[in-house]
Amino acid sequence: MWRDPEPQQHYDVIIIGAGHGMAAAYYLAKVYGIRKVAVLEKGWLGSGNTGRNTTIIRSNYLLPGNEPFYEFSMKLWEGLEQDFNFNAMVSQRGILNLFHSDPQRDAFARRGNSMLLAGADAVLLDENLIRKMCPFLDYENARFPVKGALWQPRGGTVRHDAVVWGYARGADRLGVDIIQNCEVTGFDIQDGVCRGVETTKGPIKANNVGVSVAGSSSKVMAQAGMRLPMESHVLQAFVSEGLKPCLPGVITFGAGHFYVSQSDKGGLVFGGDLDGYNSYAQRGNLPTVEDVCEGGMAIMPMIGKARLLRMWGGLMDMSMDGSPIIDKTHISGLYFNGGWCYGGFKATPASGYCMAHLLATDEPHHTATAFRFDRFNKGLMIDEKGVGAQPNLH
Ligand SMILES: Cc1cc2nc3c(=O)[nH]c(=O)nc-3n(C[C@H](O)[C@H](O)[C@H](O)COP(=O)(O)OP(=O)(O)OC[C@H]3O[C@@H](n4cnc5c(N)ncnc54)[C@H](O)[C@@H]3O)c2cc1C
Repeated sequence: MWRDPEPQQHYDVIIIGAGHGMAAAYYLAKVYGIRKVAVLEKGWLGSGNTGRNTTIIRSNYLLPGNEPFYEFSMKLWEGLEQDFNFNAMVSQRGILNLFHSDPQRDAFARRGNSMLLAGADAVLLDENLIRKMCPFLDYENARFPVKGALWQPRGGTVRHDAVVWGYARGADRLGVDIIQNCEVTGFDIQDGVCRGVETTKGPIKANNVGVSVAGSSSKVMAQAGMRLPMESHVLQAFVSEGLKPCLPGVITFGAGHFYVSQSDKGGLVFGGDLDGYNSYAQRGNLPTVEDVCEGGMAIMPMIGKARLLRMWGGLMDMSMDGSPIIDKTHISGLYFNGGWCYGGFKATPASGYCMAHLLATDEPHHTATAFRFDRFNKGLMIDEKGVGAQPNLH
């Protein structure tokens, strides 16, 4: 699918991390004509969160700093398989955000209107319509009755690791060097200018360096002397045994943290909250399993009969306001992409595109102007959830 080259001595651009970074390399080569590019990955392609997520895509955001960006990403998903000529199993089967009270309905109506204003799609469904779509939900639950849902028909799922494979094959064909098993261990910074990186395969020079390493962001940027407004946390995902098709699309619980879809092999793919403390371990703990399963049982008790087949964890780059950063740093030639919390998979195409735009032009893409470092100094937080500077809650 792609070459396995030895690193060259010098590149125009080096990108660290082969998730969003792979997408950035693809768009750098394809859209901006910059092809002397290397992607350095310490593991294998998709070994990070890009290959560990619950595959949900959507653009159902509220705030003006976020919604146009995520809708740009949704539009890129819609043409992605034709663009890189690879089957990524983009499946727009819809996402239902259930609501359980009248005030929550009002909040979801507001969100839906905000989505429509940004050119996205949103429909407010009442309980009767949901009953037809999802007869298995617990409508009589005394604490969390299902009263309706905000539905985004264009939301859905994508086969996560196929996305990185598609970008990798496309980028490789355009001349990008993909160098796996190559960990970046330091930066070559002289007089405030980043001139390359130190790696386990030796030093490599570059005009520009982009960092896109998710949960490793704090550790990698510390090598450049930067302290980030970010924490690393574990998020787990779960897959049940294969069942006959029963879920119409993605369903999210509005009174707790639980989201579920059904894979093409029949497994229920689901997840919930972070593990609740800082960690660099790519595995989770049992109390969170119980919490996630309680959420599942509260809205769809039938899940209690399914057997859990497998589970795993990923390293989340939780920012202080729950929104990402795609920005240059104070070090000339050093650029950063991160803070995706647990919503960055859906952003992969737009994040890659906007990072490529930033690296090529030194200016933010027009859909990503709010994703700047200095918003934390200036108090211009993009606090989508409204929970303040508490990364574990975003
Ligand atoms: C369990 C789980 C469920 C999720 N569910 C969803 C979902 O349903 N929808 C959604 O939108 N998002 C979801 N997410 C979030 C999403 O997966 C991430 O936000 C997104 O994939 C981040 O992409 P990335 O490229 O920034 O990170 P990654 O894919 O993690 O890529 C970073 C790469 O950098 C590499 N790296 C790190 N340090 C170095 C170094 N020093 N040198 C070289 N390489 C290095 C890593 O090996 C890794 O491959 C989920 C995440 C998890 C863990």
